[in-house]
Amino acid sequence: MRGRLVVGNWKMNGGLRQNDALLAELRAGWAPPPGREMVVCVPYPYLWQAQAALSGSVIGWGAQDVSQYAGGAYTGEVSAAMVAEFGCRYALVGHSERRARGETEAAVADKAAAALAAGLTPIVCVGETLAQREAGSTGAVVLGQLDAVADRLGDRIAAVVLAYEPVWAIGTGLTASPDQAQTVHRLLRERLGAAATVPLLYGGSVKPDNAAALFACQDVDGALVGGASLKADEFLAIARA
Ligand code: PEP
Repeated sequence: MRGRLVVGNWKMNGGLRQNDALLAELRAGWAPPPGREMVVCVPYPYLWQAQAALSGSVIGWGAQDVSQYAGGAYTGEVSAAMVAEFGCRYALVGHSERRARGETEAAVADKAAAALAAGLTPIVCVGETLAQREAGSTGAVVLGQLDAVADRLGDRIAAVVLAYEPVWAIGTGLTASPDQAQTVHRLLRERLGAAATVPLLYGGSVKPDNAAALFACQDVDGALVGGASLKADEFLAIARA
């Protein structure tokens, strides 16, 4: 069955003191109805803090990236196995902010495979730029990004979470309309074929006031939330929607 999932992406934000407060507020405030899950993806140095604050709670935690490599001479890289040691269940891969800095389709696919091999669920991000949308190539772009990962994973594609994040909606305050989100989610769902139970998240300026309309779409199973995940009241309101 497709679960309902809301994932916070803290990006490069946080600090020991504010993290403590945010994590405690989330823990105190989240009493999920059955089948709903909340996850926070925090910067690497705070994985231990998320683990300490959230262990034994119903909130999961994860990383924002993993290396495509298993280990060795890759200065600055962090492997999926290292992340898993901190109790993570999830890792984002292929976020557009990383793709924009040169992360290739092949690297994203390898990262998804590395995450699975370490027992993590990769949250694979796909999405088109504004220029691509205006050129009418949204479908080709997002399906191409999905195919690159699916070709690498084969049947294991069924074990990922997919996040549709139009690049033009991330951090801009512009949100895809429910119709725009549903149209792309349907395309992705159809392409997943036998793996159609993969949860499909929408991401891009999700806020408490637009979450319910997005979640009402047939093929939207939850959200990947950036800015609003840094405020407990907003993130909780989105998750409750
Ligand atoms: C994101 O970073 O994945 C994101 C969706 O950001 P925001 O919610 O701030 O647009």
